[in-house]
Amino acid sequence: MAEKKKEEKVDNEEKEVQKQITIDDLPGVGEATAEKLRESGYEDMMTLAVASPKDLAQVSGIAEGIASKIIGAARKAADVGNFETGEEIMERRRGVTKLTTSSKALNDLLGGGIETQAISEFYGEFGSGKTQIMHQLAVDATMPVEKGGFGSHVLMIDTENTFRPERIVQMSKAKGLDPEEVLKSIHVARAYNSHHQILLGEKAAELTKEFPIRLLIVDSLTAHFRSEYMGRGTLSERQQLLNRHMHDLLKFGTIFNAAVAVTNQVTARPDVFFGDPTAPIGGNIVGHTATFRVYLRKSKAGKRIARLVDSPYLPEGEAVIQVSEDGISDIEAA
Ligand code: ADP
Ligand code: MG
Repeated sequence: MAEKKKEEKVDNEEKEVQKQITIDDLPGVGEATAEKLRESGYEDMMTLAVASPKDLAQVSGIAEGIASKIIGAARKAADVGNFETGEEIMERRRGVTKLTTSSKALNDLLGGGIETQAISEFYGEFGSGKTQIMHQLAVDATMPVEKGGFGSHVLMIDTENTFRPERIVQMSKAKGLDPEEVLKSIHVARAYNSHHQILLGEKAAELTKEFPIRLLIVDSLTAHFRSEYMGRGTLSERQQLLNRHMHDLLKFGTIFNAAVAVTNQVTARPDVFFGDPTAPIGGNIVGHTATFRVYLRKSKAGKRIARLVDSPYLPEGEAVIQVSEDGISDIEAA
């Protein structure tokens, strides 16, 4: 009985993502408007339904009043605005699982590993090991559940061209995994600018039709946004876009019961954020949407110190991890 209910729920969730009606079918959307919407990245009903009229008008050049009507129609068509009972949310939360980081110390710090249905943010200065951790998580997700993995595929949005298949091979071998199989399970999308990155976030759901994706990585979450929106005048626009992107990522995690791991830099520009050079980019927007924030800093001889910051229900604390050719591990007991 419970099993059947679960199946129905998954069915509904899939329907939500795979809606058959297209944006051309919306009242008031002609060919030209549909074209404009598509060009601006509003290709499916759900993306439109959750858009704000102002955003939509701004990026597509459609008048705000019309944008508002289109969004209203998309909401009806996409059947959003459904309420969930506490029981349903509880049931969904029961599905939360954890992915190992390959370091017991770091797993413990995170209450067992990185969680599904949440965003885990790793931030720190250049060379602090963020990309290494993302590679390790990608490898780990392909491992069977008994070994702390998801036995799943991985989607990695690579914004800085730092994905290295050679590292995946090294880390896979260290775990006794078949490197070729692991590489086949990791789907990498280069994002060339922030707009492209947002689009990839929105499109992530499509890949799940073909592959069982349970881990979504964005490395780096903020680099494009940071370089494209430099001056103070563009800050609010940047924050708005980042906010939308973060919510797309979180939605993916929730619908597909996937873990979402992102990296972030610290600001080296004391004029921009509160004068703290170790503050992560993106300020409150990123901070409020990420469920777990881990601050990484370099230590001696390949060691890194990971500090859990601002967790809703875990105590603050630190873990020391080792970065080596084999990947992430605990510090070797000498
Ligand atoms: P970032 O935080 O900028 O993403 P990275 O994750 O790229 O930093 O970390 C780079 C560091 O990882 C290097 O300085 C080095 O210490 C370590 N590292 C990278 N590759 C290897 C390797 N094959 N063997 C040992 N350490 C490595
Ligand atoms: Mg990096």
